[in-house]
Amino acid sequence: MPEPIIEIENVHKRFGRVHALRGVSLTVEKGEVVVIIGPSGSGKSTLLRCINRLEEYNSGSISVDGIPLDSTENINAVRQEVGMVFQQFNLFSHLSVLDNLVLAQCQVRKRCKEEAVKIARELLQKVGIPEKEKAFPGQLSGGQQQRVAIARALAMNPKIMLFDEPTSALDPEMIKEVLDVMTGLAAEGMTMVVVSHEMGFARAAADRMIFMDEGRIVEMASPHDFFTNPKEERSRAFLSKVL
Ligand code: ADP
Ligand code: MG
Repeated sequence: MPEPIIEIENVHKRFGRVHALRGVSLTVEKGEVVVIIGPSGSGKSTLLRCINRLEEYNSGSISVDGIPLDSTENINAVRQEVGMVFQQFNLFSHLSVLDNLVLAQCQVRKRCKEEAVKIARELLQKVGIPEKEKAFPGQLSGGQQQRVAIARALAMNPKIMLFDEPTSALDPEMIKEVLDVMTGLAAEGMTMVVVSHEMGFARAAADRMIFMDEGRIVEMASPHDFFTNPKEERSRAFLSKVL
């Protein structure tokens, strides 16, 4: 039985004269992995940022896990359920890896230090860098930093993870280690919305592909249909560039 966890209805977002989202509607089911692709400026990041209200939208509605994003209280509740990973890792450079993972657990989740450390270590194990807990972000490779960022988001026990081009700032040899962590999460049943042009990952992990252009969802299909038989000319043209 499908169970919607993200419900986006006819969302419009303007930045001054730029109409970044032009009536986007999308329902994501619990456990689903949705991969969004599309040219630069098509509204992918804006859409992700609207889901946890890092960005305010002008009209339409979004609810997450049944909570409408319509009051400060609700927005805070939704943010607790949604983890986000950005292209730039946004780790605290003055804190060790372990402290990066512990801080928000203590402050936001009100865990005691001991429990937070235990969870942090389990997550570092999960993302494959348990030996780096004492290192500072600047001593890690980009791929390792991004895995710390994923672990940090997971430490908050999110129900949904949003990824905005998580590998596009990485050197090619580090992309796989990050995608492997994401594939593992998908296999565990995490609900994920991922903006990424890593088509190998999309084929392997996506339940649904979305192609956006000029603030709209132009095409939505299963990976199989999308890659073998894209219906829209614009998706076809774009795919021929990224494949
Ligand atoms: P994508 O992630 O697909 O590259 P974005 O969602 O970042 O696209 O941007 C969509 C459009 O909105 C672009 O035209 C971009 O320039 C504009 N935009 C995004 N963020 C801002 C902002 N903070 N201020 C003004 N314009 C913005
Ligand atoms: Mg973007």
